[in-house]
Amino acid sequence: MAKVITLLKLLPRFHQILLSILVVITLAVLLMPTDNAQASRATNHSLSGTVSLADSGSNSNSTENANVYPVPLAFRKPLAPSSEAIAQSVNAPSGQTLSHSTIDTVATPAEPVEISKQFTVRKGDTLAALFKRAGLSARDVYEITQLPKAKKNLLKILPGEEIEIVKTQAGELSKVRYHLNPISTLEINKQDSGYSEQVVDKQVESRTKFANATISSNFWNAGVNAGLTPNQIMQLATIFGWDIDFALDIRQGDNFAILFEEEYADGQFLQNGNILAAEFVNQGDKYTAVRYTDGNYYSAEGRSMRKAFLRSPVDFKYVSSSFNPRRLHPVTGQVKAHRGVDYVAAVGTPIKAAGKGRVIKSSYNQYNGNYVFIKHNETYTTKYLHLKKRNVKQGQTVKQGQIIGTLGSTGRVTGAHLHYEFIVNGVHRNPRTVKLPQSLPIAQKEKTQFLALSQQLMAKLEQNKQVQLAAQ
Ligand SMILES: [Zn+2]
Repeated sequence: MAKVITLLKLLPRFHQILLSILVVITLAVLLMPTDNAQASRATNHSLSGTVSLADSGSNSNSTENANVYPVPLAFRKPLAPSSEAIAQSVNAPSGQTLSHSTIDTVATPAEPVEISKQFTVRKGDTLAALFKRAGLSARDVYEITQLPKAKKNLLKILPGEEIEIVKTQAGELSKVRYHLNPISTLEINKQDSGYSEQVVDKQVESRTKFANATISSNFWNAGVNAGLTPNQIMQLATIFGWDIDFALDIRQGDNFAILFEEEYADGQFLQNGNILAAEFVNQGDKYTAVRYTDGNYYSAEGRSMRKAFLRSPVDFKYVSSSFNPRRLHPVTGQVKAHRGVDYVAAVGTPIKAAGKGRVIKSSYNQYNGNYVFIKHNETYTTKYLHLKKRNVKQGQTVKQGQIIGTLGSTGRVTGAHLHYEFIVNGVHRNPRTVKLPQSLPIAQKEKTQFLALSQQLMAKLEQNKQVQLAAQ
């Protein structure tokens, strides 16, 4: 360099000037392609990729990409595009397409990098306090709370909830996200034009799942082992509770199979849905149930599962022993058929009316203890003895399943139990085996549609059972 300057000094002044001008022009020409590249990148930015970047040099391109990709995964993941969100991202200026979008948009060079951070609402937090912690201005708080949905939801934030705040690289607010529920997210966008809000919904998809089990210890354990939730086990017992006394009639070797819905939002498990179809084999008798579009369950042939009487006035989950058909009578200590059925459970267990009817007795004596008799119609009467507490009065009408009292040990007993009697035309019958009045079939005009659904679901159930069997 020094040599060049010495050489220049030897030249005439005119030549010196000429050479200097030449050097300046050369430098300018050398620099120009870079300027062009930047210009084209800027153009590309606003026109969404219509200008070719071929000349701008792959080096700078790949650095841009490297800058874009580190956008936290969590940032893109929670919001798969619902149709609304897609429309939004197409219309929006490309500066803020990062959110729901396709990899394409994210990978576009020169996309500004945004930084997303989750803030947990602390005890005693207000939105203003949280925003301050997030480094946002009082103006952001003010403007956002002018938006109706934001006002409604963000001013009621609770400790433990999370708010996602997205900022530009320059530290300016870009977005606020708040989960309204597992499916919907409130999203607030800050643009040059101002603040806007929208609710973005995840797509909920329903999948059908199969489970089956053979009972070896008790129904509850079999359900748990089959992967059912407590809620599903109770649902299953409710569906078949009109036909099967889950408290006393379940035996080893009984089995069940069910098809149920599982809801997923963006591929992530959300919650269990309805039981769609089920079958239960109890002591060799097979019962089936199919859920129809009206939300009710019918047998595969279309008879209502709901009947005039519950098989058992006590929920099975309370009843202590359900596996000993030769269980000793809690009063006499002998195996003996007597005029009713005894349900042994904890004092205080709720007792349900087996069917709708009128309370013809609600009283106390030294043998029965506290007792309730219900007359359902001219044919049927049910009796409930040894109650701790009576919840109904004589003359009162009760609905099926209504809690009429609690299990106790009043009267002539040695231990707490419910003594339950079922009387048909004045004759005591075994409530566990008595033939109950037939339930109504599905409406005639629904029958064709129901049977089509039923056949399809029962076939699927059968098919799953076969697959399971083959796998064992
Ligand atoms: Zn008894």
